[in-house]
Amino acid sequence: MSDPKRRDFLTAAAAFAAATTASLAEAREAEVGDPTFMNNVPDPLLGEKELPTFKFALEKTVGKVVGGSSGKEATVLQLPISKGIAGVSMRLEPGAMRELHWHATAAEWAFVIEGRVRTTVIDPRGYSETNDFDPGDVWYFPRGHGHMLECLGSAPAHFILIFDNGYFSEFGTFSISDWIGHTPKPLLAKNFGLPESAFDGFPKEEVYFARGATPPEKPTMPLQGWRSPPNTHRYQLLAQPPHRVFKGGREWRVDSSRFPISKTTTGVILDLDPGALRELHWHPTADEWHYVVEGQISVTMFGSHGRYRVETLDQGDVGYIPQGYGHSIENIGPASCRVLIGFNTGVYETIDLSQWIAGNPADVLATNFSKPADLFEKFPRHDVFIADKDGPKKPQHPQE
Ligand code: MN
Ligand code: MN
Repeated sequence: MSDPKRRDFLTAAAAFAAATTASLAEAREAEVGDPTFMNNVPDPLLGEKELPTFKFALEKTVGKVVGGSSGKEATVLQLPISKGIAGVSMRLEPGAMRELHWHATAAEWAFVIEGRVRTTVIDPRGYSETNDFDPGDVWYFPRGHGHMLECLGSAPAHFILIFDNGYFSEFGTFSISDWIGHTPKPLLAKNFGLPESAFDGFPKEEVYFARGATPPEKPTMPLQGWRSPPNTHRYQLLAQPPHRVFKGGREWRVDSSRFPISKTTTGVILDLDPGALRELHWHPTADEWHYVVEGQISVTMFGSHGRYRVETLDQGDVGYIPQGYGHSIENIGPASCRVLIGFNTGVYETIDLSQWIAGNPADVLATNFSKPADLFEKFPRHDVFIADKDGPKKPQHPQE
């Protein structure tokens, strides 16, 4: 690189290549629009004079039941506003397995509420992982990766599943028994190098919940041996200290910065003491899905053009806030509440109303509201995030 002519040539070539790449990228963006803003399409449901309901009483439904196992779902069919995220409440009895399957159009994120669960998952590079989960643990399976879930031990398991696509139905999954049951035996024999008789007596229809012996306490080795993936599918969310702690509430949060495989989902457990409020805020880049694990909350939603709606969510209810819509969550029950919150992004972002106001000078606020500037000197100088029943307190654990 000591030859100046050669260096000039290389610099010019690099600049030319960069310019070409940039103009191609610009042309492409003009063609398809900004790919980070996928909802730039009018949604008739959100274009009405009134906001539609954003609540669904998930646990009051029956769902799919096999023996002591069940799956209850909330998709756009049950909750039409929830176009970006679907959810399932699943219970497995001891010895039961949600059979080997994949989801063609959604990734799966889960939070274990009760009991213990074992999963296996395969990825496109042939890595497979077996993990055991306790209450408070989370799993994430990328879109299309094959997996199974089984109840561990002698107590039933209960977990909440979130899918990054509101149109996805848990009852439209691709199950291994369904596939093999509908493939002719000669083709199966050729595929596996086995006699056709090897497939005698296989289920003809989808099994969905398989039932058998309680799994061994220690995971057994896969047929191919142990070939673990570089990124684990398990994150022990509640085993960590809370992400943010306030007088009035605590938040545990896991996004792709802490759980790298979870590229399309962020999960939160929010505990609020009686009367506490997760303040008015919005999420610039994600839809938000709620499941009330315990307690009773009041959720408000602001949808522009004077549209404002309030719903009361009880234990087992689901809520949904579209991307960019203003909202708040308040504990209105007599005891503390716990809300599971899912976002369809691996990179969490929020703008809190108090922070927005704190980010503006008093004269701007005075003009905006036609009020004296000194009123705004009394407003918080930072984001409130969680206010206790008497108002904002400083965070006790202010890490971001
Ligand atoms: Mn699944
Ligand atoms: Mn929110």
